[in-house]
Amino acid sequence: MVEIKTEQSIDEMRAAGRVVAHALAAVRDAARVGVSLLELDRVARGVLAGAGATSPFLGYRPHFAPVPFPGVICASVNDAIVHGVPDGRRLRDGDLVSIDCGARLGGWVGDAAVSFTVGRPRPADLRLIETAEAALAAGIAAAVPGNRIGDIAHAVGTVCRAAGYGIPEDFGGHGIGRSMHEDPSVPNEGRPGRGMELRPGMVLAIEPMVTAGGGDEYRCDGDGWTLRTVDGSRAAHAEHTVAITADGPRILTAL
Ligand code: MG
Ligand code: MG
Repeated sequence: MVEIKTEQSIDEMRAAGRVVAHALAAVRDAARVGVSLLELDRVARGVLAGAGATSPFLGYRPHFAPVPFPGVICASVNDAIVHGVPDGRRLRDGDLVSIDCGARLGGWVGDAAVSFTVGRPRPADLRLIETAEAALAAGIAAAVPGNRIGDIAHAVGTVCRAAGYGIPEDFGGHGIGRSMHEDPSVPNEGRPGRGMELRPGMVLAIEPMVTAGGGDEYRCDGDGWTLRTVDGSRAAHAEHTVAITADGPRILTAL
């Protein structure tokens, strides 16, 4: 079931989304060569706690997970696509880092992700990140009343494929509100004009993921969480929580 949010609820979701934006900015600011993923998790914990927010990631245990998620961020480095567990690994020169973060505030959830490099960037990584961001922007632009879920999926997928990248199958965006994952699901590839019609008050997390090697397959690490490319190529991820409004898309997780 898709919950239609009131304008006031969307304003409240914006407050949660702003906490996510601040947490991601703080993590990005703290990320440099030699810093561990656990330290980045601690930075995000500090921002959430300071804002009076809690984490929808911490302790999350969907059906596929053998253990509850141990962090407030997912930290996915290089060939890790999404769901990377923040551990003692220290960032190295040229790493490509994707950070996904959520916050729950006043009963509402925000969810967003950014990708960036540390140290000297590889040009190929910058292009990968730019493509994920461009796909996200295209998806957001399609998030208008009267369009359908398939229009968002098509917009996202077209940008990723045009760049020659893979799109991990099975994973994509989702409705969001009082829970992190609500209906409908928002695939990263699809046919225009298909699927549920978008209406004002729907709130969606749109989240393109791209793999440099062009493969759509992934494998799961022994930790039961981290999803990696099969060919070892690098991946990037970008995400915003977006409200559908009569005035157009409203990004709830921007700074
Ligand atoms: Mg996310
Ligand atoms: Mg999400």
